[in-house]
Amino acid sequence: MNRTVRWEELLPREFVVRQQHLPLVYLPLGLCEPHGHAAAFGLDTFKAEWLCEQAAHRFGGIVAPTQGYHIHETGYHRPWLEEVIGDVNPHLAGVPPDVLLRMLLFQLRAFTNAGFRAIVVLTGHHGNQADLRLVGEEFTRTRNAAIITVSDPELVRGVYTGDHAGRYELSQLLYVRPDLVDLSRVADAGSSLLGRFAQGEDASEASAEFGRAILEHSLDELGRRIAASQPFDNDVAPLSIDATEDIWHRIAARRDEWRTLSEDDPDQADVAL
Ligand SMILES: [Zn+2]
Repeated sequence: MNRTVRWEELLPREFVVRQQHLPLVYLPLGLCEPHGHAAAFGLDTFKAEWLCEQAAHRFGGIVAPTQGYHIHETGYHRPWLEEVIGDVNPHLAGVPPDVLLRMLLFQLRAFTNAGFRAIVVLTGHHGNQADLRLVGEEFTRTRNAAIITVSDPELVRGVYTGDHAGRYELSQLLYVRPDLVDLSRVADAGSSLLGRFAQGEDASEASAEFGRAILEHSLDELGRRIAASQPFDNDVAPLSIDATEDIWHRIAARRDEWRTLSEDDPDQADVAL
């Protein structure tokens, strides 16, 4: 039964058994963006995938295909890019908010129509989660589902402090994919034509052991949130594409609230989470 927890890898019988055991689906979100010179572009994606796969093995549920593109370049992202990248090519796989949020809405529809009653939306790219929550909020006004939307630094808030391509993030990648980290490249920030490339000041202090501590704490917190979201509502009717379009109209009507279009620091706006 534990051969794989990935939806795309499961045989039908295995899928049904896992789903009957716990009708919960995980959606890992990440993207390719600069993470300094020592770490691979997909750091955010690998964190999210690892947490979702480990959670499914430990707590149950199925991991949906990864969403490997994410919101960037708008709102607070724009001045951030200017500050940490300058005018070099960031080799970035970002999409605008309306594209990602609309995709997420139809992913939520696909999940409930496929029989899932609870959804974990776990983003390794921190800052956009308020808008992901807005989509979930409007979705659940039409169809009941337990939706847990969280960024990985939120899972360790008060214990560890998230960063961008510094000790916090590189340690996690060192633990889950050591083959994608080369700490000897940290020094390139001073000589590369790419400049600093968004590298954190304390990147050289990263260690797999620190990454393991962060990720284990994250999993414990995720397990608590999953337990708290039960019991799930088992009586959820399928949602048509037209009915989902109605939800999208409500989300689009709240465009003024989309955090990813605002230049305000998302961490200042998210203090109540
Ligand atoms: Zn990152």
